[in-house]
Amino acid sequence: MKRKSVLITGASRGIGRAAAAAFAKGGYDLVLNCIHSGKELNSFAGKLREEFGIQTLCCCGDVSSYAFVCRMFEEIADFCKGVDVLVNNAGISYIGLLEEMPYEEWERVLHTNLTSVFSCCKCAIPYMVAQKAGRIINVSSDWGVYGASCEAAYSAAKGGMNALTKALAKELAPSNVQVNAVACGVIDTDMNTGFDEEERRCLEEEIPAGYFAKPEEVAEFLYQLAETPPYLTGQIIAFDGGWM
Ligand code: NAP
Repeated sequence: MKRKSVLITGASRGIGRAAAAAFAKGGYDLVLNCIHSGKELNSFAGKLREEFGIQTLCCCGDVSSYAFVCRMFEEIADFCKGVDVLVNNAGISYIGLLEEMPYEEWERVLHTNLTSVFSCCKCAIPYMVAQKAGRIINVSSDWGVYGASCEAAYSAAKGGMNALTKALAKELAPSNVQVNAVACGVIDTDMNTGFDEEERRCLEEEIPAGYFAKPEEVAEFLYQLAETPPYLTGQIIAFDGGWM
């Protein structure tokens, strides 16, 4: 029987890397993407192949580029025809006042966090619809729901991702394709290395669970979500330790 396959964008570090390990453990073939850390991604994929006896394909490139995403899906077509699960995880943050934000940074944040989701969904959907099965999981943020001062572009991109999730879920439910978003709170990854000890302690005190979640905790949830019935769709699910 053909193993199920998953594409995880931004899989070299943080949540994406942990998600790759969780899906590999679940027996999925993996298509893994990142932009800069191709060497690390390849060696990590090799380890997962050896440990779990799965197949892997690494596609290093910029998911904010529609042309790159199209090329990646051509490789995917040769590798496994199409993916059963798409995890739109690649993302970047930008911290600073909107009035001081260069236009190019606005574009970079919007294209990396949101346009990439359009591109990957557009390319993944035809196979899913033809199979009458598929799962799309968008890794979003509490800021996409509530907004964050000094992260206006990031909040706008994740808010767009949430609206896209709800709209696409309605569009694809008749084809038995599930679309959900997981709105993370604070996860202990490179994205949060900017906090000093005092800032981190204050933030942890604000979170009812009392700590930054490990990427492995989110990853396990992403994997479990991909295994839920497709009737669970169009949801923005907070994964934030009760924070918001
Ligand atoms: P991270 O540790 O900084 O890792 C980011 C990943 O995205 C890396 O694999 C990076 O690849 C990849 N990436 C960045 N730009 C890319 C591009 N243009 N094309 C392809 N890959 C790209 O981030 P993280 O904390 O795991 O975050 C993952 C997702 O969770 C993001 O969407 C983020 O917005 C969301 N999130 C995170 C938090 C949090 O607290 N950490 C909270 C809410 C939401 P390279 O290694 O090659 O650079």
